[in-house]
Amino acid sequence: MEQTTETTLRTFLEEELARLETEVETIEREGHEALSEASGENNYRDHMADQGTATFSRELDMTLEDNIRESLVAVRRALERMDDGNYSVCERCESDIDEERLKAIPTATLCITCKAAEESR
Ligand SMILES: [Zn+2]
Repeated sequence: MEQTTETTLRTFLEEELARLETEVETIEREGHEALSEASGENNYRDHMADQGTATFSRELDMTLEDNIRESLVAVRRALERMDDGNYSVCERCESDIDEERLKAIPTATLCITCKAAEESR
């Protein structure tokens, strides 16, 4: 992978890391309501609450939090892989991950072949 491409992706990942850390902090400090306001999902949530599906709405919040935490782990891992110099190396078969794939999914750790094999299991 070209150095400029990796630098671009690193910048993206670092911004993503900062954004996700802020979201996790917001959840921990102010609870889920603040996050839903920040992410502009309030109308949808209010609508769901109106229909008496508050339980569902809370589950939605938990899923959102899980997603953020999972993304955070993936982004940190991608940055560690960059630091180790094996960012574009597939974790399973050790061949190069296609550059276009990394541009589309900067947190990818498997080449397209291994990813397809994993998903078909
Ligand atoms: Zn592979």
